Amino acid sequence: MPGFELFSDKERKEVNDVLDSGVLMRYGFDGNRNGHWKALALEKALAERMKVGYAQVVSSGTAALTIALASAGIGAGDEVIMPTFTFVASFESILALGAVPILVDVDDTLTLDPKAVENAITKRTKAVMPVHMCGSMADLKALKSICQNYKLLLLEDACQAIGGTFEGKPLGSYGDLGCFSFDYVKTVTCGEGGAIITNNKDYYTNADHFSDHGHDHIGKDRGAEGHPFLGYNFRISELHAAVGLAQIQRLDEFLAIQKKNYQILRETLEGIPEITFRRVPQAGEESYAFLSFFLPNANMAKEVHTALGEKGVDGCFYWFDNNWHYYRKWEHLIHKKSLGKLPKEVREQLPDYSKSDFSQSDEWIGRNISCLIKLGWSESEVQARALKMAEIIGSFLKQF
Ligand SMILES: *Cc1c(COP(=O)(O)O)cnc(C)c1O
Repeated sequence: MPGFELFSDKERKEVNDVLDSGVLMRYGFDGNRNGHWKALALEKALAERMKVGYAQVVSSGTAALTIALASAGIGAGDEVIMPTFTFVASFESILALGAVPILVDVDDTLTLDPKAVENAITKRTKAVMPVHMCGSMADLKALKSICQNYKLLLLEDACQAIGGTFEGKPLGSYGDLGCFSFDYVKTVTCGEGGAIITNNKDYYTNADHFSDHGHDHIGKDRGAEGHPFLGYNFRISELHAAVGLAQIQRLDEFLAIQKKNYQILRETLEGIPEITFRRVPQAGEESYAFLSFFLPNANMAKEVHTALGEKGVDGCFYWFDNNWHYYRKWEHLIHKKSLGKLPKEVREQLPDYSKSDFSQSDEWIGRNISCLIKLGWSESEVQARALKMAEIIGSFLKQF
């Protein structure tokens, strides 16, 4: 997955353009910038690649999620449905607005279970936020139909699945809004950065203003610009955007490598009858950022994961025990541990997750192992890795 593995002269050239002019800010200083507008160019390239009307590039994926929600008017006390398996950024972005994260089960896609989503809808629900974890997507067709029936916003977190598609549409472009992260370990990286994509002009305009203190960006004098509503500073710098501009143009190159490496590993593991693979919804194509598979039960998965690590197969994750990606270890959320006082709405409406039954999620996440697909591997390295994985898993299964 990480785009940094293949940094090249292309990234260097874009960064040097910025250093040569010395204009590190994305707005203003028109006379000094030698015609370089890296954030703007990245937005244009991203909108084109994702086949959407608008893209707003910002300081992180977490910021992108926050801005996306805000741009659609989500605020205090609004409920946002999100999965039990994701990165903490999902609920951080919701809580940042005083909205309430409603956790629901995932299924064998490792993403939101549409039935669980429908069961969690209340009169306060405003949005559904599927998270396309580990390179593959939620059942977007089912989720979109639920969102249409109940008039809810569909916000796709495609931070880990850039380049995947559903019904031929790039992930992130299927819902009302989509978000990407360009942090250091993502397929496309800026060092730190993120983006919102949408076909909705109002959401885009709101995102443009909100991410820059409410600036309306009208005219040529920043100090004289209007501020139609409150905002915040979620701007990206030109230096970061420059790296991303080179990287987005290499996305298809990265995806081709991911797919090739994924297929070698998958074909080898398919020879082990006890292993099954995460379900990819019909009409979906993964970004191949990870290979995720299930063992027959949770104990086996845990032990196989340990064995892989001990025998030197790095980059495999057992999410069930992970501190950052699965609800079981989110005791800061569960016990509402914040520095300052949380908004009244959050204190009163946040469900008591210490009493929740997420046994369906436990069933799938407990049996799952996900292995990162790297870009820098040579073909012989991938082949050796595939054989080693098959050997470790095979010899472990023989004990049963
Ligand atoms: C990385 C990531 C984020 C947050 O992105 P940052 O740029 O690190 O803030 C959000 N959601 C998911 C699923 C991620 O993997």
